Order: sequence, then C-alpha cells, then structure tokens
Amino acid sequence: MGAEMKFTNFIEDGIWLKGNLHTHTTNSDGELPPERVVRAYRERGYQFLCLSDHNIFTAYPQFNEKDKFVMIPGFELSIHNDKSPEKVMHVNVMSRNSTYDFEQDEEFDIPDPEDGLAFLRNHAKNNILMLNHPYWSALEWDEIIDLPGITCMEVYNHASEWLDLLGDDAREWDALLKKGRRLWGLATDDSHNGYVHRDGWPFHLIENDSFGGFIVVKAKSFTQEGIIEAVDTGSFYASMGPEIHDFYVEDGEAVVKCSPCERICLSGNRGKVMRALGVDLMEGRIPLKGNETFVRVQCVDKYGHIAYSNPIFL
Ligand SMILES: [Zn+2]
Ligand SMILES: [Zn+2]
Repeated sequence: MGAEMKFTNFIEDGIWLKGNLHTHTTNSDGELPPERVVRAYRERGYQFLCLSDHNIFTAYPQFNEKDKFVMIPGFELSIHNDKSPEKVMHVNVMSRNSTYDFEQDEEFDIPDPEDGLAFLRNHAKNNILMLNHPYWSALEWDEIIDLPGITCMEVYNHASEWLDLLGDDAREWDALLKKGRRLWGLATDDSHNGYVHRDGWPFHLIENDSFGGFIVVKAKSFTQEGIIEAVDTGSFYASMGPEIHDFYVEDGEAVVKCSPCERICLSGNRGKVMRALGVDLMEGRIPLKGNETFVRVQCVDKYGHIAYSNPIFL
C-alpha cells in the first residue's frame, strides 16, 4: 500500500513573517506620512508592509532593512465593475520583484470598466492582484468571479469593520470557493489613522484602525521575493490575533495546530460545518467525509478573534 497523501499549503521549512499588505498614508487619504506608518508597524513587531495608497504607486526601498523589515511595493487601484459600472472595485497591485511595472509616485485614473479589466490582465504577471473588501464595496460573487488575474482577496478588512461593520468577507470568499474560483484569503488593516486630526472620524488611538488584521507567511527567505512567493502559493494564514502553526489533511482527517483557542471550525464545499470546541484548544483533528473539494479552518480565541487558514484543495 502506498503512503497516504498529505495536503497542505505551508512549505515544509520556512520562516514565519508577520505583515500587513493594506494601509494608507498622506500620499492618499491616510493621515500619517509614510515614515511614521512604517515606524508604527515596525514597533509593533511587523516584518513587512505595503503602503497601498489609492491610485498612486510607491515602493520606498529605503525602508528595507536586511533580515528585519521588507517593503512590498504597490498601490490600491480603483476600477469600475463591468457588470455593474456604478460599483467601484478596489484591487491591491503588489510588485512580485524589485523591478517594477510602475514609477515611484505614478498615478492612475481608470474610469472605463474595460480598461480596468485590461489593466488587471496586463499586470497580473509582474504583480499580485488582491481584491479588497468586496463586502464593503457591495460586490456579489457573480460580479467578481470572472475578474482576470486576481489570485487572492481580503477575508477580513479591519478598517471596514471598525467604521461600518462591513469588514467580514468570509461569505463572499466561500461563495467564490464553492463556485470553483481558487483564491487565497488575507486579513489586512486598511488603516488610515484618521484619529490624528480629521473632524468626525471616530478614532482616537492608532490601535483603532491599525494592528487588527494581518497575515503571517511561512516563507523560504526574509525577502520581498520570499514573502510574495508565500502569498502566491498560499503558504500563509490570515488573522485578527490567534496563530495557526500548521494545517493539513492526511488520512482522511483535517489537522490544525494553533495558539490557545475555544472554537476550531472547519468549512468546505459540503455546507456542513465541522468543529472542535473547548478551552485552550491547541490542536483540532476533524474527520472528513471524503467528498470535499476544499476545506479551510477558522480558529477563534476567547476574545472572539479569528485566524483563517487558506483553503486546502482536495
Ligand atoms: Zn479600498
Ligand atoms: Zn484601502
């Protein structure tokens, strides 16, 4: 008898690196300059960051520090939905390597939906394209399932949650996964730091729209290329706080190892949720039925904070 297959997205040997791929600065509608945003994330132990300002590409390689901090060049692009042209879609465009498609401070204005789709097609090779906050953007699954070049999406957008209770994109993600569209899921901050001085902005502390959604990659190297490759292949998890140390399927069982949690909930295309409940759970072993085409897990700690695995496709 042959050995049972083990399915996982995590690479075997790698280093764990924590980062946020969605934040704003004074280059668009953020309230803090880039260097202050970078410093704030570094002080909180983040190891990589994308300053994804609206429709302006920035790279800031001067903030890189070898084996300590990596900038991911990119921006947040606004394009219009071809199926519902009144709806604006936000897509993060993040460079795969240190030669960019764009110039520092290059600006974009793409009002035509067809031009937007062409942009995605043209730049998918050299950039990772992430669909941002579909719930906040009021996008339904059938409006986004055919978007070209998109390989990942937000499953949790912290600022949308704080402002509008619209930060949870898990439903849209599952709808797409169940239709067969394979997308990785990220948690981000989308921080604007409006607490500084904007009238009417309900924030008073940097913590309010920063440090709430992040990813942790398991990467081959502490470099832009290593981090991007991990995002590209799903070797990461998304979180509001809890940690996922391993997640795999073997011998008809889904196995998750995590920081202490109270609920470990497995979902897939079968519709029925399978779960493990307890206090300070650090491992869950959940038998599969055998007819799943994908499974993903959510680990919830005692504060209600969620860590999301990526889907394992079976
Ligand atoms: Zn946005
Ligand atoms: Zn944003």
